[in-house]
Amino acid sequence: MTAYLFDPPRVFSIPITGETAEYPVSRIFCVGRNYAAHAAEMGGEVDREAPWYFTKSPQHAVGSGAEMPYPPGTENYHHEIELAFAIGLPVFRADAATARKAICAYGVALDMTRRDRQQDGKDNRRPWDLGKDVEGSAVFAPLTRATELGALGDRRIHLEVNGETRQDATLSELVWSCEEVVAHLSRFYHLHPGDVVMTGTPAGVGPVVAGDVITGGIDGLEPISLSLGDPE
Ligand code: MN
Repeated sequence: MTAYLFDPPRVFSIPITGETAEYPVSRIFCVGRNYAAHAAEMGGEVDREAPWYFTKSPQHAVGSGAEMPYPPGTENYHHEIELAFAIGLPVFRADAATARKAICAYGVALDMTRRDRQQDGKDNRRPWDLGKDVEGSAVFAPLTRATELGALGDRRIHLEVNGETRQDATLSELVWSCEEVVAHLSRFYHLHPGDVVMTGTPAGVGPVVAGDVITGGIDGLEPISLSLGDPE
């Protein structure tokens, strides 16, 4: 047994509906623009050549129902509702069929974003970490097994702030399918169980403030919620 100077970081895990064991998270990959209408509202367009990515630290993940303080270093904290999927098999350079088998579960997630710091990054050609890798910014609802869910189809994906609808779209608007993302991402990474992917947000992103309650869902999946408290 290795002796540590201090307790090693906690392992964040996501419950799986109907099961006792939870899914331990090792890496969080996020797809950039994956809905044309959201790309347009951000002043860009979807790259039809290939998807692209940023990452969030697993230490910054929280479960649905969490209450987090409004984060420091921003005056424009934004909500993004997303479909997430979890990898269940080791895959590297996956073809389409292998990519499909590699996805073991789906869930609803929030990619909370310091939009002002992300914009700084874009303006100054600097990394997005201050905008995207925010403490408490990767929120995950319980997962549902892919075998239980069936085809994703054109399920509704939606988000509300204090009960008012802000994002409302369907998964058929996804430019890059989950399988295409696995096939592409696995050209760069040895994907393995513990890797989760947020697949991008539809149009309608916008700011939240302290005291707001964010809720959202995707038809057939467990709903998600996040409460924002006062800044520290
Ligand atoms: Mn996002």
